[in-house]
Amino acid sequence: MVVQPDTIVALSTPPGRGAIGVIRLSGPQALTILRKLLASDSFEPQPNVLTLRSLIDPFSRAAIDEALVCFFKAPHSFTGEDVVELHCHGSPVLLRSVIDAALKLDARLAAPGEFSLRAVANGRLTLTEAEAIRDLIDAQTDVAVRQATRQLKGETSKCLQPVKDALLKVIVRLESSLEFVEDDLPAIEHGYILASLQQVRSTLDDLARTFSRGRLIRDGIKVTLVGRPNVGKSSVFNRLLGHGRAIVTHIPGTTRDTITESIGLEGIPLLVTDTAGIRASSDHIEAIGVDRSKREAADSDLLIVVLDGSEPLTVEDRNVLGEIGNQRQIVAVNKSDLPSFSIPRPIDPMLEREDRVMIPISAKTGAGIDHLRTAILEPFMNGNGHGEGLLVTNARHHDLLLRAIDGVLSSQDLLGARASEELVLIGLHNALRYLGEITGETTPDEILGQIFSTFCIGK
Ligand code: GDP
Repeated sequence: MVVQPDTIVALSTPPGRGAIGVIRLSGPQALTILRKLLASDSFEPQPNVLTLRSLIDPFSRAAIDEALVCFFKAPHSFTGEDVVELHCHGSPVLLRSVIDAALKLDARLAAPGEFSLRAVANGRLTLTEAEAIRDLIDAQTDVAVRQATRQLKGETSKCLQPVKDALLKVIVRLESSLEFVEDDLPAIEHGYILASLQQVRSTLDDLARTFSRGRLIRDGIKVTLVGRPNVGKSSVFNRLLGHGRAIVTHIPGTTRDTITESIGLEGIPLLVTDTAGIRASSDHIEAIGVDRSKREAADSDLLIVVLDGSEPLTVEDRNVLGEIGNQRQIVAVNKSDLPSFSIPRPIDPMLEREDRVMIPISAKTGAGIDHLRTAILEPFMNGNGHGEGLLVTNARHHDLLLRAIDGVLSSQDLLGARASEELVLIGLHNALRYLGEITGETTPDEILGQIFSTFCIGK
């Protein structure tokens, strides 16, 4: 991977007003630019030590800020290059003027993820560790934070290393037997290689299987509340969230647009969307809301169909149940606190689906809400349990693991069929390359570019 030897600059804290804003510079000119910003060509910073200095606009000579500055000398920095951090006061205007000054002094605005990319290129981080930093910043629950931290500490690489070593050992053995074309592998060796490949595969299988839970922890579950107006969707939404976010009134059609909030349930982020009631509406704005509701619903992992159990099913309820078809769903029968409440009879053809779970709840009193929470998670837990071993949370890693498993599997088959070593080796080399792509050793540059473009600027 070739990294441009230029100097990049970016704001590393979120945009907007704050107590402080940190600007980071990385590259061979970082110290020179710092000296210019301090109007002191002789400034010799002690590395890794913060000092309070005046920042000066090198062109107008106007004072910009009193900032804490820190110099990290290559290679002992995040990127492995000379790095300067400027901890300024968090005014967007001020921060912009410092960055502008740095740009005029020949720094270049960093591309998304470029600091991390340089860290990987300079061997300061593995690719999985850089991805872990992104995941850590984006983590939505404490479990997601813990998983990203494990990955950041290099657990994924550590877990893969013995597998790679075992593969390499087999490859070396097979390659060397190629030299002696006439000889077949002795039976004992053949058995040993088959056994080590079996071991490799079962480790990779176990790791790949953790993705179904890992993905949930990282990306969460998209849940949408649907139902005709006034059945209590907004009230259920507020109950699930635990505070009064959506507007609740007795006038049908109040939730005109969709509202999405995120909550953590057993460490899994739940993106809950409250929709406008799905019904035919003559009000143009409401009709837009209804349209959007349908789109949200179609895009969800799970629908919660809310019915009003204090009234018989209406035509509108039937239309909702009919429209959502085969999507994964739970029926929450609301208003169980009212005397007229009853669970709609399953003989109703609209409710006959065997897999349809019906849960009596009261958004008003909170009765049944815990049961509803459990039912939301249940279809996604399928044997994943609540264990907190190392999980594969990243779809890219999962895909590469599956490819590596395929490679090993095909080599096992060929070896079993006593095919030539050359053929057996193809799958093993591929598997090793795919595993290397996870941690970055063998990741092609264009893939690296794609990965880092999903990072934000300043990271
Ligand atoms: P939405 O239009 O489906 O979002 O329904 P809302 O959440 O706005 O509720 C409609 C009406 O039903 C409001 O007057 C709520 O106070 C009432 N409501 C909602 N849930 C319950 C409940 O569990 N029990 C009772 N008695 N009333 C409820």
